[in-house]
Amino acid sequence: MVSTVHTRENILELLSQIADPEIPVVTIEEIGMLQDVRMTDNGCEVIITPTYTGCPAMGIIEADIKALLDKHGINATVKLVYQPAWTTDNITDAAKEKMKKYGIAPPVHSGCDVAHAEAHICCPQCGSSHTVQISRFGSTACKALYKCNDCKEPFEYFKCH
Ligand SMILES: [Zn+2]
Repeated sequence: MVSTVHTRENILELLSQIADPEIPVVTIEEIGMLQDVRMTDNGCEVIITPTYTGCPAMGIIEADIKALLDKHGINATVKLVYQPAWTTDNITDAAKEKMKKYGIAPPVHSGCDVAHAEAHICCPQCGSSHTVQISRFGSTACKALYKCNDCKEPFEYFKCH
């Protein structure tokens, strides 16, 4: 059996397929969590910037990374870095579009007036801005629950950070 030589690029490519457990249509690369891979003597170290502090998804992501690389015979450790801090601005525009199609309103730009913007989140279903926040917390702490007054559909908003 020929053993494959793993490179940093090749590992980054493998990792770029891992989905965010909270938003399965978006990958950890698109959401801006995957920072880097460093080759070590006995494998590699994966550098991840956690999104929301204390988000339970981080444990799942760490396990997913290790399981995937283990399948390819790569011994990996996961290192969490908090500086520079992750913000919702790290999410690519393509990922925001995917979130919308999935029914989650993507975060507004953190540079703008967040309080004002979050009072006028557009419904991902019909695009209406006649929406109202029902709960500060949706299915997870990272999301808030909204309801659209036009199409009457509830939806989740991925909070600004
Ligand atoms: Zn609507």
